[in-house]
Amino acid sequence: MGLNIIMLGAPGAGKGTQAERCARQRGLPRISTGDILRQGIKDQLPVALVAKAKMDRGELVDDETMVTIVRERLARPDTNAGFVLEGFPRTVSQARSFDAIIEERRNGPLVVVNIVVPEEDLVRRLAGRRICSKCGTNAEPADGSGTVCQRCGGTLEQRADDSDQVVVERLKVYTRTTKPLVEYYRGRPTFRTVNGAQPPDSVARELDATIDEAAQEGARAALGAPRSLGR
Ligand code: AMP
Repeated sequence: MGLNIIMLGAPGAGKGTQAERCARQRGLPRISTGDILRQGIKDQLPVALVAKAKMDRGELVDDETMVTIVRERLARPDTNAGFVLEGFPRTVSQARSFDAIIEERRNGPLVVVNIVVPEEDLVRRLAGRRICSKCGTNAEPADGSGTVCQRCGGTLEQRADDSDQVVVERLKVYTRTTKPLVEYYRGRPTFRTVNGAQPPDSVARELDATIDEAAQEGARAALGAPRSLGR
């Protein structure tokens, strides 16, 4: 039985950092649709090159392309024990298609965690965010790492879509299109919210405990047992 995890949250909420750590710790693949698109652009794949213009403007890539990318990725055998998915779904339409994919897989509960951070923190975090051009690690130079990746020695760069104007557009798109997803998932026994406005280690602890508890709830729900009290 697999464990399928989706991390929701605004750009800058810490989804990438937490998804990477959580996936490593649980021996699951981390799947980031943003990373898949960025890799596709590097590899000059036609579908990713078409998406690039939208990404550069902070707009969403169309649902059909994104669902195809995720469907193909989840067909790979490394997802048999589950996955940590980040950056998808981003629209209610994607979420509906994803439910159908999960239904077909019949492989464990879907835990949905929403990482919540106040908007003013998001803007600050995104403006300061740097990505290693070699290994893709996220960093904040303000924390003393300068322009060199602490993990691999690569050069830290700002993502093109983390520039001020594009960040404003991405946050608008998030509020308009992605936030309604929270309402889409909220009534489910395996939906949880985590406070992302804490140091990363504290977020990690809260997230891990939350995922374990939600996964148990999901397994109970799958057996048709009543939900535990207090939720
Ligand atoms: P991210 O790295 O998750 O912030 O994604 C970077 C950009 O890739 C987004 O601003 C979108 O343009 C595009 N993108 C990634 N995932 C999706 C998705 N699920 N739906 C639509 N566009 C996406």
